[in-house]
Amino acid sequence: MQQINKHMASSAHPNAPCAACKFLRRKCIQGCVFSPYFPPEDPIKFTNVHKIFGASNVSKLLNEIEPHQREDAVNSLAYEAEARLKDPVYGCVGAISVLQRQVLRLQKELDATNADLIRFSSNQNILTNPQSSRNYPQNPHALPPNYGANYSWNYNP
Ligand SMILES: [Zn+2]
Repeated sequence: MQQINKHMASSAHPNAPCAACKFLRRKCIQGCVFSPYFPPEDPIKFTNVHKIFGASNVSKLLNEIEPHQREDAVNSLAYEAEARLKDPVYGCVGAISVLQRQVLRLQKELDATNADLIRFSSNQNILTNPQSSRNYPQNPHALPPNYGANYSWNYNP
């Protein structure tokens, strides 16, 4: 309840009905369960959620969860509703599987690039390319001249 009042107080239009009450053509009473999450300036958010889930189901769900979790729940419903309207078959699962395939492809690409890097760096060491000492400071020639003077350096050439 306190959370709702705080949200209502911070609303840009304290007297305007929320997007849900405006759409449902009813009076937006104080403590309206939709009001903190469906501001009048974003009517699409409510119409999407209403089309997919139904206002009474959303109201029931919001009343069943803790007030501090309601904003996350509404954002999740709004995301899913928008995805479901764009893709009636898969909804947000479509986006998730596209991203999962992308992660797998990029992981393979990264593995291949890392393998290339290891191959190139070992070739460079064989050719004793002067650049390798700059890129690989573990090479003792790249260390400051006095490094290891007071330190037992365990290097076998
Ligand atoms: Zn309302």
